[in-house]
Amino acid sequence: DTTHGAILYLEDITVSFDGFKAINKLTLDISVGELRCIIGPNGAGKTTMMDVITGKTRPASGTAFFGQTIDLTRMTEYEIAHAGIGRKFQRPTVFEQHTVFENLELAMKMDKRVKPTLFFRLTTEQKGKIDEILKLIRLTGQESRLAGLLSHGQKQWLEIGMLLMQEPQLLLLDEPVAGMSDAETARTAELLNELRGKHSIMVVEHDMAFVTEIAQEGKVTVLHEGSVLAEGTMQQVQSDERVIEVYLGR
Ligand code: ADP
Repeated sequence: DTTHGAILYLEDITVSFDGFKAINKLTLDISVGELRCIIGPNGAGKTTMMDVITGKTRPASGTAFFGQTIDLTRMTEYEIAHAGIGRKFQRPTVFEQHTVFENLELAMKMDKRVKPTLFFRLTTEQKGKIDEILKLIRLTGQESRLAGLLSHGQKQWLEIGMLLMQEPQLLLLDEPVAGMSDAETARTAELLNELRGKHSIMVVEHDMAFVTEIAQEGKVTVLHEGSVLAEGTMQQVQSDERVIEVYLGR
């Protein structure tokens, strides 16, 4: 078993832009059901790493496996999305002219595993699923509101809900609390803590207070100059000399 039972397994990944190594021999694995936080200063390679995982950027060398058998370096972005990797970008992209409910319904219909029909009527089970997601994303009672009228934080939650409708096997969240109020950030931490263990999630985030909230006893990976500088609990990485130097020594 080359992937050690991981949902995501990256080994010796290198990405070069005109000779500059944005990712330099990066090795990292995420276990099934893990909530992994990725931190690191600007330019560390976090976005490029997500681009490699989602097929947007091809590594010059290295191995990237999703599950035991899926070689991500040989697939298109489209194929990877449909294989079960859901990515949320920093800015929310919801259908502003549609209601909250319709957004979740549309996300379900965009799921290629659900057979599309012209007069698609939701089954009781599908409605139940939408209700469950509405509760999770703190939008119960708001299902008839236009998504465009939601607060920034609510839009971010709706988009997480839309990704969850597609039941991704791995969820990638890029700075999910950027631009959120303190209250919204706290609720996002609660939301992610509710997802813990049920989904495999990778969160890239700058907000350290938030990372501390969601990392708990889990692993945090610190990226620096395109590779892993440190990995361990938040407490371990925070007291690591190399990490302190990278964050404070500039
Ligand atoms: P992070 O997300 O951690 O801030 P990035 O992955 O965006 O880091 O960038 C890593 C490094 O690669 C940076 O130095 C950045 O300038 C460089 N880089 C990223 N994308 C490109 C690109 N398309 N062309 C050239 N350099 C790039």
